[in-house]
Amino acid sequence: MSAQYPSLYNIVQRKDVTVASVLAQTHLSISFRRTLTGNKWIEWLHLCQRLMDVHLTNEPDRFVWKLSSSGVFSVKTMYEDLMNILPRFNRKYLWKLKIPLKIKIFMWFLHKKVLLTKDNLAKRNWNGCMKCCFCDSVETVEHLFLSCPFAKMLWRVVHLTFALPPPTNVTNMFGNWLNGIDKKTKARIRIGVSALCWSIWKCRNNIVFNRARSFNFLQVIHMASHWIQLWSLLLPVDQRELLATGCNRMVTVASDFFSLGG
Ligand SMILES: [Zn+2]
Repeated sequence: MSAQYPSLYNIVQRKDVTVASVLAQTHLSISFRRTLTGNKWIEWLHLCQRLMDVHLTNEPDRFVWKLSSSGVFSVKTMYEDLMNILPRFNRKYLWKLKIPLKIKIFMWFLHKKVLLTKDNLAKRNWNGCMKCCFCDSVETVEHLFLSCPFAKMLWRVVHLTFALPPPTNVTNMFGNWLNGIDKKTKARIRIGVSALCWSIWKCRNNIVFNRARSFNFLQVIHMASHWIQLWSLLLPVDQRELLATGCNRMVTVASDFFSLGG
């Protein structure tokens, strides 16, 4: 924790414990001297997001999720806890979108520009190569999802398919970008945008962590289409059709675009 979450470490009650000893106890034995606010709250969410990927079993040593009475992690309790902090954030629509909670948190990190991109890692004293994995620029949230040539190609496909010009920057994407569009269409666009951003992030992580060499933007489009169709199951049956049609159109446009570009 001291290395990756220094500001949380500074206010943690007991600094001398190891991760192994914290995890070995029945209760997740971390407590803080002060209430978590601002960046500290974001760091805590980062940590929680990692815990969400921890596989829970009924073995004797296990995590106990403090937000539920049973002690077992559930998305519902995490969601309710997040809903409680909503008045502090004005992007309420994000939490109402019919997408998995994990993706809502990811999109909220993106909105706050606190995803662990290389520029943000450097602020935590990480000193690896800052280069974007798709081009030679420095990797920032703004760059990776919007201004990188790779992202621009993906947004170009969205533009060609739906006659929807790309957002100018992250603030615009979560702000005025869809002004004037009706509520239901907006919600569908936001599901699509979440899937697109999540696919860029997954592709980026695959290159950074798994050293995957080959990537092409058609794969990202297919991946986004896959997530959209999967998440559409969270919507009423009559609303799924539009998302499926949109996905098929996007894949067709991307294939044409790709074959034209060679
Ligand atoms: Zn780039």
